[in-house]
Amino acid sequence: MNRVYNFSAGPSQLPEEVLAQARDEMLNYNESGQSVMEMSHRSRFYEPIIEETEALVRELLGVSDDYYVLFLQGGATLQFSCIPLNLKRRGKAAYVDTGVWANKAWKEGGKFLQADCVASSADEKYRRIPEIPEIQGDYDYLHITMNNTIMGTKYSAIPCCGEVPLVADISSCILSEPLDVSRFALLYAGAQKNLAPAGVTLVVVKKDLCCGVGNAPLYLDYKIHAESGSMYNTPPCYTIYMMNLVLKWIRSNGGAAAMEKRNKEKADLLYNYLDSGDFFWAPVEKGSRSLMNVPFLIRNVEGDLEKELNKKFVSEAESHGLINLAGHRLAGGMRASIYNAMPLAGVEALIRFMEDFAKENRHKTRA
Ligand SMILES: *Cc1c(COP(=O)(O)O)cnc(C)c1O
Repeated sequence: MNRVYNFSAGPSQLPEEVLAQARDEMLNYNESGQSVMEMSHRSRFYEPIIEETEALVRELLGVSDDYYVLFLQGGATLQFSCIPLNLKRRGKAAYVDTGVWANKAWKEGGKFLQADCVASSADEKYRRIPEIPEIQGDYDYLHITMNNTIMGTKYSAIPCCGEVPLVADISSCILSEPLDVSRFALLYAGAQKNLAPAGVTLVVVKKDLCCGVGNAPLYLDYKIHAESGSMYNTPPCYTIYMMNLVLKWIRSNGGAAAMEKRNKEKADLLYNYLDSGDFFWAPVEKGSRSLMNVPFLIRNVEGDLEKELNKKFVSEAESHGLINLAGHRLAGGMRASIYNAMPLAGVEALIRFMEDFAKENRHKTRA
């Protein structure tokens, strides 16, 4: 069977070169006589892997020595709790509600401190990034979700918040384009979108913010992980190794700037097709569109017929080797996630399929 193009929002497609290298090294990594899966995390074979992975994160993302780079478990979701626990000082944080994940982060924050929603686009079905009002100085941090995986929006610029530390969930856009890390107090990303298989979460946090969390669960304490080089307990060794390979793939393809160029080319192709056709359309406002997640709907149809056509699209696409195109149930329609590892040829194949589908099914809509 041929490999498919996987448009899943996550876990997502990995670069084929990376999978091939992992295969080649599966039984005997670097003449160790073992698989990385079997190694002690404190062995002389494994320690260079995690050290090099941290160095690659620092190099590719542009992280200075003022920050820790941590490899943690629990997904981006556990960070929704870790962040308020570790950053709470005065007891008040600001959140921007731009979709499902942003909303979850905000609700979870509310368990640990006063979590104020300072801007939201919920009333507009999250189809744009809202303007953020001037943030007053007494907040412990401002939390944003840089790229909204489900709704397909992203910030076109980093918001200004003066002295208030800025915290961002970059799970679905990390290394998709260059990012000025120095503007942030904390960045975090579940790996399974753009970095690795599921199982590791990357946290980049200003060193001076890691002061310990007192009686809170020790696994949630950034300081403990930082002081032990992400080896306080057994790290997700194999996933970190896979991240290492993906980061080297990004580096050999030109780094974040080259990823941005590739990603813009892919996204422009798809958005231009959606904006110019008479069968599909893109619901997200132009200034807020994601480079990574592209939701789309069928024009001139609603109700049961719309649901039926969506289902038909997703199942016929699958039989053409284009998988996981169903939209999130909260957004409806379809969604193509086109992360770093999705080649241009995958997007071209998707558009060819969409053109054929439109031709065959146009008579069923009101167009
Ligand atoms: C996928 C995703 C999450 C959830 O990540 P887990 O690792 O499954 O907890 C959170 N935020 C964003 C923006 C995501 O895309």
